[in-house]
Amino acid sequence: MFSGKPLRFKIGVLILLTALGMLAGVFLGGCGQRKPSPASGGASGGRIQVVATIYPLADFARLVGGERVSVTQLLPQEAEPHDWEPSPKDIMKLYRAKLVIYNGAGLEPWMARLLPSLQSKGVRAMEATKGLQLLTFAEEEKQGWTTYVNGSGRFREKGEMNDAPVDPHAWLDPLLAREIVSRMAKELIAVDPAGKVDYMRRAQALQNRLADLDRAYTVAARGFRRKDIIVSHAAFGYLGRRYGLRQVPLLGLVPEQEPDAATLAKIVDYGRKQGIRYVFTEPTVNPRVAETVARELGVPVLPLTPIDSLSQQERERRCDYFDLMLQNLNNLKKALGE
Ligand SMILES: [Zn+2]
Repeated sequence: MFSGKPLRFKIGVLILLTALGMLAGVFLGGCGQRKPSPASGGASGGRIQVVATIYPLADFARLVGGERVSVTQLLPQEAEPHDWEPSPKDIMKLYRAKLVIYNGAGLEPWMARLLPSLQSKGVRAMEATKGLQLLTFAEEEKQGWTTYVNGSGRFREKGEMNDAPVDPHAWLDPLLAREIVSRMAKELIAVDPAGKVDYMRRAQALQNRLADLDRAYTVAARGFRRKDIIVSHAAFGYLGRRYGLRQVPLLGLVPEQEPDAATLAKIVDYGRKQGIRYVFTEPTVNPRVAETVARELGVPVLPLTPIDSLSQQERERRCDYFDLMLQNLNNLKKALGE
């Protein structure tokens, strides 16, 4: 450990953290227990087969498609999307689909080499982020929506990041998500014109919910007294642009890349100066680094999920995109409000 605080202080902090952690745990209550299980697998006969790569796109496709479609999520839950590669079996799933929905913006680099052959077999492909006003990681830093303290979270930019300088996490901005949903309806109509009225109606309902979500964030953001959030990886740049936040990523774009002790000390220092009250963890990333920083700052940790995949606990609680966006908002209010 890189601090020389007396043991008694550390024990005191530990007890405080446990108590605060229990309070924070209240926010982990049920998501949507009243929701029916999502229709998937089983009796999918006659339905339009849709494959979406990551969780939020699969969730949107189920909501827009309703009973007419059967949606398969390609990435397994808890998979790390920035790292994942499809197996031959996964690739077969793509060929059996009528419509494949992928994020793009560098998240699925393996898709590029599959697209020509998928399309030649009559599989329609939708790149969800196409036409959106995307950001590069460099722009986010320039605009102050991301700060890399001592280079933390930036490891990839020296090498592999050059291949993927665009921030792929567009689904975390409700208004960008609305545009994705609008195009998703058009794509579904293209593969299943008979469902047009149904798709349009469902997409409109979903877009209204996303507009409500944006309003909830906008109203809450007016009450934020701080803007810095210490997060696991740089997933929150679009939220930053929309609602005036600044993320301080602890890990590289691939969450396994960990900062060294000197960098951690700098981040703790930064956090102290900014009056950080919580350090955010991601449910599918090992919280060790975040917990170390939180311990040094003497503050608790809280979850803030990039919603790229669901943790086992989130699945058991039947959480969906909206539940998790609202849970994120509650936790942002705790961290940044008065
Ligand atoms: Zn990510």
